[in-house]
Amino acid sequence: MWKVLVTESIHEEGLKILRDAADVTLVERVGISKEEFLAELADADALLTRSGTAIDVHVLESAPKLKVVARAGVGVDNVDLMEASKRGIVVINAPTGNTLSAADHTMALMLSLVRRVPQAHASILAGKWDRKSFMGHQLHAKKLFIIGLGKIGSQVAIRGRAFGMEVYAYDPYVPEVKMDNLGVARVDSLEDGLAIADVVTIHVPLTDETRGMLDENRIRTVKRGAYLINCARGGLMDEVACYNALKDGRLSGVAIDVYGHEPVSSDHPILSEDVRDRVVLTPHIGANTFEAQSAVARIAAQNLLAALRG
Ligand code: NAD
Repeated sequence: MWKVLVTESIHEEGLKILRDAADVTLVERVGISKEEFLAELADADALLTRSGTAIDVHVLESAPKLKVVARAGVGVDNVDLMEASKRGIVVINAPTGNTLSAADHTMALMLSLVRRVPQAHASILAGKWDRKSFMGHQLHAKKLFIIGLGKIGSQVAIRGRAFGMEVYAYDPYVPEVKMDNLGVARVDSLEDGLAIADVVTIHVPLTDETRGMLDENRIRTVKRGAYLINCARGGLMDEVACYNALKDGRLSGVAIDVYGHEPVSSDHPILSEDVRDRVVLTPHIGANTFEAQSAVARIAAQNLLAALRG
């Protein structure tokens, strides 16, 4: 029997696949302490996680029997991949399950930013009827710059085009034909895209190459008045630089779903009163739909079983 450990909340659809597997003992210990987690790992064959558990050297050292780490989601930046590979541990994810939900959420952030929906909502709740303060922009004919034209970036491109936007993308790893098929114009450098875009949205994975991609210097080169969205990974975009760019008027608005440190601390500058009317912030909910959570749980559970069974 394989011991499969689950310590984060995983959709029932994935858990059922593992419970029904004749060769698996599923151990569900959501919310346990770090010490209990390490103790449970001592005889675990596989671990099923989301993004909330850091699988670092220390954790892997405590798991001598571990063969598979399965991530119910896309990003595996919470796993020390080098160390896992040294130990012969297979790391798998569920790369397609939450693509559509993350793309939808990016559009929700974009529309919220340009029409200031959260601010108008808060104003109504405060008992006001203030129509004049909430002038916005329409998306039609605006230039959308997508950094990273992978699964989610492509779906954002399709949605942007459906809103009548001119879509540009920077992704040196995708072929010209893919951009042509999506009706997207290729941009040869990040700086070229930042200089022309009305809305910039980033959809690359967090790697050594992409960390800090939208740093202070690059944010200074963004076209005056543009909007910036990060629904990919904290660490890609300098949030303090965003705050400064909002204050000096370079950026019209910033929307963030993912932060350098999660949960975001209550004294983070991006939460300050002086920029509150131009930010839209959500707590890493890009993949939080019933459809995405059941899909990633099912795919991760199936891939985990396939990896264990060889
Ligand atoms: P993907 O692998 O399909 O696409 C990533 C794209 O980025 C690829 O086309 C790749 O060529 C490109 N890329 C890589 N390095 C680049 C670089 N240096 N410059 C430009 N392009 C580069 O991944 P995906 O499924 O589209 O996911 C995109 C991001 O969204 C990831 O960071 C993922 O973790 C994140 N995500 C967030 C949520 C959320 O809850 N907010 C949900 C799902 C995924």
